[in-house]
Amino acid sequence: MNNGKICVSVCAETADELISQIKHAEESADVIEIRFDCLKDVEEENLWTLIGKTSKSFKGKLLATYRPLEQGGKKNLSQTEREKFWKHARIFEVAALADLEQDFDIEIIYSFRGRMFERIIKSFHDFSKVPENLDNLCENLSKTADIIKIAVQTSDITDSIAIWKLLEKAKAENKKIIPIAMGESGKWTRILGLAHGAFMTYASLGSGNETAPGQISAKDLIEVYRAKELDENTNVYGILGSNTSVSMSPYIHNEAFKFHKLNSVFVPLQVHNLDEFIKRMVKPETREIELNFKGFSVTIPHKQAIIKHLDFIDETAKAIGAVNTVKIVDGKLYGYNTDAQGFIEPLLNSYGDLQRTKIAVIGAGGAARACVYALRQQGAKVTVFARDLEKSKSFAEEFAVDLQELPKTKNQRSKTDFSDFDILVNTTPLGMKGKGDGETPAAAEQLKGLHLVYDLVYIPFQTPLMTEADKSEIPKIGGLAMLIAQAVEQQKIWTGLAAPMKEMSRAALERLR
Ligand code: NAP
Repeated sequence: MNNGKICVSVCAETADELISQIKHAEESADVIEIRFDCLKDVEEENLWTLIGKTSKSFKGKLLATYRPLEQGGKKNLSQTEREKFWKHARIFEVAALADLEQDFDIEIIYSFRGRMFERIIKSFHDFSKVPENLDNLCENLSKTADIIKIAVQTSDITDSIAIWKLLEKAKAENKKIIPIAMGESGKWTRILGLAHGAFMTYASLGSGNETAPGQISAKDLIEVYRAKELDENTNVYGILGSNTSVSMSPYIHNEAFKFHKLNSVFVPLQVHNLDEFIKRMVKPETREIELNFKGFSVTIPHKQAIIKHLDFIDETAKAIGAVNTVKIVDGKLYGYNTDAQGFIEPLLNSYGDLQRTKIAVIGAGGAARACVYALRQQGAKVTVFARDLEKSKSFAEEFAVDLQELPKTKNQRSKTDFSDFDILVNTTPLGMKGKGDGETPAAAEQLKGLHLVYDLVYIPFQTPLMTEADKSEIPKIGGLAMLIAQAVEQQKIWTGLAAPMKEMSRAALERLR
């Protein structure tokens, strides 16, 4: 448990819309930030009356913000308009806290009525980068503020180190700070900040209502990440990939940690430069900040690149040539692969013995390596279909499987005959939301004669290939089954406990639907 607060930011154009958002925010917020710059008319008398009424029933505090466009706000505001707003008599009746941008002279408020807000936040925003002079900036802001807020844009995870150091420094100096590394790469700072002494973390009302890049919904912060329950001893795990924004893993793994009442959390770790991340944030000899990392789930494109950073790799991962799980013990990195086990388990459950079963595997990427390894272990007869035969030749030789060409266009693909096989497995992103929307590696006609279709894609839950299988009345397995099974194995590796499969599946399904 920590003392941090969750601040839900609301941004509406009209008074009625604003009040409805405040009502909604009250359910989860300790502080509600009213972004007055979102409103069409801040002079409207009715607006202030309504906010006044609403604020009386709210147990937390209201924070007023009136941000000009060039500092990330919604309105073009002159200095005179800004001054006029902060001198509005009723602002002091409704808001206990005020957020003033770094360039705004705080004396304007003092000179008007003396100090009327409980606390003043002075904020600095940079929506393009992490500036170099953060220390000086903080120093200057703290001269006139009760709380400093620094929000800067990150493009890779190591950009957020500078922000984290500010938090550590402020804590040592007993100053209150709200450090925000904006963007997907900085999401972890929003989750872990409170545990490490941040005064507050900002959250959105829900998906689609974000007021800054990388903002997480208040519901997820509280229910999925348990941000207010974490502390400096919390074990930190995370998904390491170049795009973590669509990952289901935080929902699945946090559900398991919650089930076992563990002081552990699983966060998105969007990493582009893996070497820099490992050096500056993970390895005890070289890391610049202490986050208590205990393990990672590794995804595209780092499954092979992570290998050179490991102190130990298990036999299965070595044979597959890819690592999707890292466990950290006493600063040492241990690598495993749970994709093979996660893939084969649902298949054995639905199909049974795979000895000499003829299986067509479409695709020859990272996931295919784990699938083909597992299938060969079971004695299946595998043929890999790849669009680039030259590139896939060594893969086929390594696993001693047949190789056939997968035509590149939809029209040509529809002529490929799979009737000779028992099972078809799709390991390409064809059909995946955002990558291969609506596409299918094979149509219903081509699936006739097969006994089972297994699609590794899990977004959407019902993929185009699964729909084609339905048309030909062929049993199917979707990618969620593998996702959960491999996550269950990861939990065993990390915690040594039997993972709550049912709860993990439910958490993922809720999200997918
Ligand atoms: P990857 O390493 O990038 O491999 C993708 C493979 O698909 C490559 O062989 C690629 O061919 C081929 N491919 C890509 N686009 C294609 C297209 N339009 N037509 C034909 N072939 C195409 O990715 P991965 O890690 O193997 O992941 C592949 C899919 O499996 C993703 O959708 C991922 O979400 C899913 N997956 C699911 C689970 C699960 O637990 N359910 C686990 C892992 C992966 P080239 O080499 O020629 O580019």
